[in-house]
Amino acid sequence: MEERKGQRLVLFPVPLQGHINPMLELAHLLYSRGFSITIIQSDYNSINPSKYPDFTFHSIFCGLCKSDFEDLSTLLMLLNTRTVEEPFRECLAKLLRDSSESEEPIACLISDALYYFTQSVASSLQLPRFALRTGGSSSTLAYAAFPSLKEKGYLPTPGSQFHLEEAVLELPPLRVKDLPLTNSNPDKFYEVICSFINEVMASSGLIFNSIEELESPALEKLRQQLSIPIFPIGPLHKYFPSESASSDSLVAPDETCISWLDRQEPNSVVYVSFGSLATIAETELSEIAWGLANSEHLFLWVVRDGMINGSEWLGFLPSGFIESLGGRGHIVKWAPQLQVLAHPAVGAFWTHSGWNSTMESICEGVPMICMPRLVDQMVNARYVSHVWKIGFLLEKGLERREIEKTIRKLMEWNEGKEIRERSTILKEKAKLCLRQGGSSYRSLEALVTRIISTRDKSSN
Ligand code: UDP
Repeated sequence: MEERKGQRLVLFPVPLQGHINPMLELAHLLYSRGFSITIIQSDYNSINPSKYPDFTFHSIFCGLCKSDFEDLSTLLMLLNTRTVEEPFRECLAKLLRDSSESEEPIACLISDALYYFTQSVASSLQLPRFALRTGGSSSTLAYAAFPSLKEKGYLPTPGSQFHLEEAVLELPPLRVKDLPLTNSNPDKFYEVICSFINEVMASSGLIFNSIEELESPALEKLRQQLSIPIFPIGPLHKYFPSESASSDSLVAPDETCISWLDRQEPNSVVYVSFGSLATIAETELSEIAWGLANSEHLFLWVVRDGMINGSEWLGFLPSGFIESLGGRGHIVKWAPQLQVLAHPAVGAFWTHSGWNSTMESICEGVPMICMPRLVDQMVNARYVSHVWKIGFLLEKGLERREIEKTIRKLMEWNEGKEIRERSTILKEKAKLCLRQGGSSYRSLEALVTRIISTRDKSSN
């Protein structure tokens, strides 16, 4: 723990699990570097302040409700409307007023990059703003290319000239079907993405939960295109031991996962989880269930409440499924994922390829089976399977024979062995970057210096 710097940072996370975790991890990291931390958060999906006594919390009423989270494009728009902007501006302005009389001035705002409205709020209050991008750099590069992709007709519109399998020449190795898009409201989504990129370009710097060595081509291009300092300081969850709870679970994790894993052989279990948001049709679930059962491998499967469209928890399972397993499967509503992935019994991760899950898997050297559903997951899955070559992409949809074959390929075949070896090598690289002199270590030093110098400039 470094000496206190006498400067406070204000952080503002988007209220989604995959955005709260990296923001809290960043909060812990910057606190350990001597900054005081204030977190402004929405009253919906909020972090429990009592778990983080080192931080000061302010809750703002944003009028969000459960149904707002059903469509991503609509949610992202909603997060950038006046209903969020007004209470946020009021809260930040008050914090600035109060801090002007204290001995601990506010050095900057660090907000989720998707809260793009915060740039103009911070500018109007003469406060520097840094953006935390909780997704990867390669998908962010694809987002930055949206206007030119649209112009060239790559984005699927009624007039689109391209087929899904065609290569996007500007963004190798992506194909049209790997572009980070949503299934609904494409126009709204396009608008949100362009705004987020434009406002990032006006910020004082962009922080990534990524590693220079992992995504250097994308990071280099982003540095050129955005013309702002970029700080890849990940993997954020690895700065502190997982027991220190630097991330927060909105749902209580089922601890039976660990006692169940303790009873299994090393590398014998397929961990299956599709993150905090992805939903799945009942027919798809049946294919997943039979694919898992027919593979004859052990599995730990996270089935969230509300994950299956129109079905009660476990009410969806095909009849005869549980009986067919003979104890080979364990199903829970939410897992302590960091501990699960670090468990020696876990030999593969069948994931939706969310960026946090991808980074977490890389850090434990666990090879992946990728089943991306939308947005940046498409890009992440393509990189896992075709660039880093540490997993397989389920390309042919969800079909039980394909699932069974892919699990067997990863767990039993030579091809799987090679993937496992590459995963182990990448895990070591991910470890090294945090050590003194490593790329993320240096990037973090640069970020701390930049925060201090930016504030000094703006207060002169
Ligand atoms: N997670 C967890 N338990 C689960 C499923 C997910 O702790 O059962 C955590 C996981 O470790 C990750 C986050 O939830 O940090 C999901 O983020 P990700 O970017 O992978 O996907 P999203 O939920 O944003 O689609």
